[in-house]
This record gives sequence, C-alpha cells and structure tokens, in this order.
Amino acid sequence: MKASVRTLVLFMAIMPLLVCAQQPQKVNVLFYEKLAERDALNELNLNLVDAEDEADFWKDQERFEAELQKKEPNAFAIYLAKKKIVYLAHKKTCSEKCKHSALFAKHASKYFLDDKEIIAAQ
Ligand SMILES: [Zn+2]
Repeated sequence: MKASVRTLVLFMAIMPLLVCAQQPQKVNVLFYEKLAERDALNELNLNLVDAEDEADFWKDQERFEAELQKKEPNAFAIYLAKKKIVYLAHKKTCSEKCKHSALFAKHASKYFLDDKEIIAAQ
C-alpha cells in the first residue's frame, strides 16, 4: 500500500514537469485543471488507514505543490485555483460522513479559503 501510494505521488509529481519541459513557454491550462481536479478528489476521498501512509501522502503532495510553484508559477496558479474550486464545491456537502482525518484538516484547510483568489485567477 505504502509503495503504491508513493509511486502514484511520484508519478503525479513528475508528470507535469515532463510536460512543462516539452512546452516551456506555454502553460497547458486544461492539463493543470484536470490534474488539480484529480488531486483534489483524491485528497477529499482519501481513506488511508495507516497514519504513516497518510503523513507520507500529504508530505509528497506538499512537496509537489512547492516544486510546481517554484518552477512553474503560472501552472501552479491554475492548479491551485482549480483545486480550491473543487474543495469549495465539496464544502457545501461536507459532513461527519466524510470522515476526514485530522491530517486532512491540517493540510486541506488552505484550499477551503480565499474565494477572492479564485475569482482573481479566473
Ligand atoms: Zn467532506
């Protein structure tokens, strides 16, 4: 389980960098929106029983976002804006039934904020 999560996260981290390397001047908006949507839904539905696996997941996700922000700030802005849209949509129906973990609350809280940033990015 742990290895497969790491492999998936590694793939998610490398994939956009490979795409960017091929198209350094142009940000593939649709690609980053789809990636953000997939990542957000993955996080919102995250159900890792092992605490260490979950900690690794969030650490890798934060590393990916920090790297994207550093290397491709425009792509990161698109990614973050879309991620926030998905999180805010989820917020409307979010309840105890979701069973989000404490780690989720810690890491995901930033995506539930800043509606103004989302409007500005659109
Ligand atoms: Zn929820």
